[in-house]
Amino acid sequence: MSNALQQDLALFNTIVEELLNEEEKNPVAPLINVEELHDKLDFKLSNEASIDEKFAKSLKELVLKTPKTATNRFFNQLWGGRNSKAVLGDLLAVMLNTSMYTYKISGPQIGIEKEIIHQVCKLIGYGKESGGTFPTGGSIANFMALVMARDKIDLTIRNKGIQKRMIAYTSEVSHYSNAKNVSFTGIGRNNLRYIPTNNKGEMLTEKLEEQIQEDISNGYLPFYINATAGTTVLGAFDPIDSISKICKKYNIWLHVDGAYCGAVIFSPKYKSLLEGLHHSDSFSFNAHKMMGTPLTCSLLMVNNKNHLSDSFNNDADYLYQTNSDDYNLGKFSFQCGRRNDALKFWSLWKAVGTNGLAQIVNHLFETANIAREYVLKNPDYTLYNHCNSLSICFNYKAYDAKDLCTKLYQSNQLLVSYGSFKGEEFVRFVTINPENKKEDILNFFKILEKFVAENKEGILRKEMLKVS
Ligand SMILES: *Cc1c(COP(=O)(O)O)cnc(C)c1O
Repeated sequence: MSNALQQDLALFNTIVEELLNEEEKNPVAPLINVEELHDKLDFKLSNEASIDEKFAKSLKELVLKTPKTATNRFFNQLWGGRNSKAVLGDLLAVMLNTSMYTYKISGPQIGIEKEIIHQVCKLIGYGKESGGTFPTGGSIANFMALVMARDKIDLTIRNKGIQKRMIAYTSEVSHYSNAKNVSFTGIGRNNLRYIPTNNKGEMLTEKLEEQIQEDISNGYLPFYINATAGTTVLGAFDPIDSISKICKKYNIWLHVDGAYCGAVIFSPKYKSLLEGLHHSDSFSFNAHKMMGTPLTCSLLMVNNKNHLSDSFNNDADYLYQTNSDDYNLGKFSFQCGRRNDALKFWSLWKAVGTNGLAQIVNHLFETANIAREYVLKNPDYTLYNHCNSLSICFNYKAYDAKDLCTKLYQSNQLLVSYGSFKGEEFVRFVTINPENKKEDILNFFKILEKFVAENKEGILRKEMLKVS
């Protein structure tokens, strides 16, 4: 092989091969304590160039020692695994290195993005005016929805700034980006209302309406509700249909944050969890969560795409020089330069069809059900959430969830995290990796139980914490 790129691609293949072998052998990368990090790995940058072999060695080591998120021991985050078709699409996007702002620069890639958005809008039941974009993540999707809602109430805010006290609403267990976003947009953190939830973590619509009425009677302006489809800890679904009725009644923008579980729209069996979604103004989901594409792959759909351009379009004659706005997607996006996140999801979708996406969703709920049944049948476990959810929240015997998760991590056993809800702390076991099978789920419990049996004295118990 002659040129540098070919050599480096060959190196890429070698490293990936080793990574895959290593994942088989050691599905959990040995923990490196931060104190030792700089001694254990050669990542120091210096004036001198690194000769080829040394460079390759450093790179390989770095890759092999990084936490492994694609294996059947990783349950820590709301994503996991590695869908091969999506990986292929993403690698090709790197090679093409387009930027999704203009047709001139991205050509057919613009068509890919538009086709995905079009199909998703159809599945949701949005009308002819609908559209969307690929933001950099679920947090920014929430941000963009908030900005559109703000501008819809009063388009002059873009120039004059906020004149009235505007109020936004979300549930007490919604994603933390809501708090940041009201701060970024000038709404103010004090003007975000956290609506209480029932014992399943679903927003209480009566409480929502009461709060709206109180704010109106105080002369404030309610303008935005962020409902969640799959809350970050429990995986609960807010009642979209009844929330949408309140939104209509009070002229409030409804955004449905489906970053975690919005992809249920692909499954005829589970899409009813989002009943009423077509009444929303905007909806987002992360294909890098349930669909298993590489990070990040986030979609934001709007019932009327004029709101996207009202809030995010800006003239720039040095950029927009050819073609109609419809194909210059920079007119609808937050950023200027924008990565092609569409191609990886398109590669997956094209390869397996919409039926294949439905199967992924159904499979995830099946693995979640296996985990939930295991917990329910075994008296050593306590379950905290009982409904359709990909997060199985439980405690094992009387062990402290936080200490148990930390020790499993420190002993290179499992990566799993803990969460809390209404004062109870628990292990949050997320069955989001579409590649996991029944035995991977059962193996999780086996490893956990074996670890506890072998380390009984070393793991804190809840009672011990209460006393101290
Ligand atoms: C993950 C998540 C987000 C944030 O998405 P990012 O892509 O990580 O920014 C927002 N909302 C919910 C409900 C989530 O689960």
